[in-house]
Amino acid sequence: MADSFEGGCACGDFRYQVNGEPALMGNCHCTDCKQASGSEMSVVVGVAADSFKILQGETKKWTCKGDSGEDVTRNFCPNCGSRLYTEATVMAGMIIIQAGSLDDSSWVKPGMELYTDSMSDWYQVPEGVATFPGMPTE
Ligand SMILES: [Zn+2]
Ligand SMILES: [Zn+2]
Repeated sequence: MADSFEGGCACGDFRYQVNGEPALMGNCHCTDCKQASGSEMSVVVGVAADSFKILQGETKKWTCKGDSGEDVTRNFCPNCGSRLYTEATVMAGMIIIQAGSLDDSSWVKPGMELYTDSMSDWYQVPEGVATFPGMPTE
């Protein structure tokens, strides 16, 4: 697992750096993630907010309500539209990075599948990966 890594958007205006090991890696199949990503799921890497540093650029933010009724703010590049990271009130203190924005995502290994209730039938859960019908409840 990487403990220092960087990423950014497709046009290069926005760059970030993380110093610290990811707290979680997973695939989210919720309908919000489908719409926001325009795809089947979000592949996400959760990191502690204090390990996340913006190197350059500014995101455009879009806030909606998650399942919990609390705010979920999605950050994307205003120039090229690349999805970058999400902040959620229910996961305060954590930055949820879109794995595809990492410069090198070869080490990413999603350890859980979230919101399998809205997962597409054709998607096959990798062996040994935990599944949750919605958000995992702690
Ligand atoms: Zn961009
Ligand atoms: Zn989701």
